[in-house]
Amino acid sequence: MVGDTIRDLHVAIAGAGIGGLALAMGLQRKGVPYTIYEAAPEFSAVGAGIGFGPNGDLALGMLQEGFRAEYEKVCVGNMPGEPQDIYFEGMLLQPGLGLNEPWRGHSAWGHPEYVRRGAHRQAVLNIMTSFIPIEKVRFSKTLTEIQQRPDKVFLRFADGDTIEASLLVGADGIKSMVREHVLRPLYPSQVEPVYADSYCYRGVIPTSEAREIFGDLTNVAKMYLGERRCCITYLISKGDEFNFLLCALDDQPLKLGNLVSEKITHEAMMADFDGPGVDERFRRLLSKAIPVRWGFFHHRYTSTYYRDRVVLLGDSAHASLPFQAAGAGQGLEDSLILSNLLARIYHATDQGVGLAPNIRASFTAYDAVRRPRAQKQLERALEMSHMLHFQHPDTGNRVENVAAKLQKGWFEWIWFHDLNADIESAVQLMDKALNG
Ligand SMILES: Cc1cc2nc3c(=O)[nH]c(=O)nc-3n(C[C@H](O)[C@H](O)[C@H](O)COP(=O)(O)OP(=O)(O)OC[C@H]3O[C@@H](n4cnc5c(N)ncnc54)[C@H](O)[C@@H]3O)c2cc1C
Repeated sequence: MVGDTIRDLHVAIAGAGIGGLALAMGLQRKGVPYTIYEAAPEFSAVGAGIGFGPNGDLALGMLQEGFRAEYEKVCVGNMPGEPQDIYFEGMLLQPGLGLNEPWRGHSAWGHPEYVRRGAHRQAVLNIMTSFIPIEKVRFSKTLTEIQQRPDKVFLRFADGDTIEASLLVGADGIKSMVREHVLRPLYPSQVEPVYADSYCYRGVIPTSEAREIFGDLTNVAKMYLGERRCCITYLISKGDEFNFLLCALDDQPLKLGNLVSEKITHEAMMADFDGPGVDERFRRLLSKAIPVRWGFFHHRYTSTYYRDRVVLLGDSAHASLPFQAAGAGQGLEDSLILSNLLARIYHATDQGVGLAPNIRASFTAYDAVRRPRAQKQLERALEMSHMLHFQHPDTGNRVENVAAKLQKGWFEWIWFHDLNADIESAVQLMDKALNG
């Protein structure tokens, strides 16, 4: 039986993806008791490459001091000798790639203070989990039922096990059951992620193989833009591997429906990038992808991230399209803010105070600070999709227009955000909610 004073605080986290692990890293460092419940039988990284942007890198370093040094050992930017302040260089998907266009050499976006970093997801996961004692993680625990009681949350798992906790953090990803619990009563139309009428094929190949197709173009991360199709490439694994995504707007949106992924034949995949508008090199690259269509889904709007003692974090709160490579970074920011607020509760001088008002105040503050920023990221990611697929009214089908828009401060608000100020605002809001 869990008590309900500050000294009894125990945080249940559903999901051991990047979001749940980041929160655990923060709580571990600050000595707040927690347990992670993960549906899978072990830690697993879905997908290949990931980069967090300067804001995400900063959040990880703030969550656990030792993270950055380990991360530096596995991450890679553009090839050594190439500019590291280029995030992506824009080029064309059509034959010739735009190599002879007048804008060639000026179509990259980044920032003088930006340093490109990306890594293999598995390598990132290995570092994150190294900070979390394994006894704090319960595997093969699929959360199936949540009941809120005045003084606790009651959780039931697929194996019949039940537990009680002071509060629940739903870090259970895009198809979150915790989101259902939080939003169904008041905002039922916001529960389900929405199919963005687009999908991708992805793959990772040795950089040496990619060089046979693209030569030196592999050295710097690229976005190849085109009519309803685009391709994104960048290096991972210390430069030994080449990560690529070939993305498409869906011509038959209703077919993929509510499936996150769909296995198709190699021929159907190849046919998707057939036609004169696509340089032959992309078909060679596509032939190396896994013939699975990964649908892009997002949460268009979310009116609240919490209900009573249950709160959302990461993709369960704000699943986004991947075109700004900033979704996980927002989950890291969630974790930074929430871990600071929960630590402030746990380390209060008077340990006998009731938890209920503290939890309410912390969730109100978390929601107020995090939700507008994550929502903005999500909306900009959709706009970015329109630009890359030549559907944006401002930029049309011109790489130079897209580059110009992205060069004018498009990313700065995400990358160079003051996270300390966010922690401070959240703490002030929490104190105000508690003390009036
Ligand atoms: C193609 C692509 C490329 C991307 N690239 C980038 C990038 O470069 N940079 C970036 O910042 N973001 C990127 N993103 C976004 C990023 O991958 C996600 O935002 C991030 O992985 C979400 O992490 P999460 O922990 O919130 O959710 P998830 O990673 O989905 O983790 C959820 C966890 O919860 C578990 N779970 C689910 N249901 C239950 C349950 N009922 N009970 C218990 N456990 C449960 C799952 O098994 C899983 O382990 C990309 C996304 C895509 C699709």
